[in-house]
Amino acid sequence: MPEPLPPAPAAKPCPICRRPAEAARFRPFCSARCADVDLGRWFGGAYAIPGPPPELDEDPPDSAGL
Ligand SMILES: [Zn+2]
Repeated sequence: MPEPLPPAPAAKPCPICRRPAEAARFRPFCSARCADVDLGRWFGGAYAIPGPPPELDEDPPDSAGL
């Protein structure tokens, strides 16, 4: 009698942004952007990321009055 297989492991976090890589299409990454980031590293650190980085919600410090 074979042993029962363990339950399928949960989706591993994206190695780039640590978010759950739920989209099987881009695994092990969470999105095409993170895949591009990793690809850019392979090409010698020359990042080729389309669009601005995702962390630009905060106002720049220069916006404050002097
Ligand atoms: Zn990611």
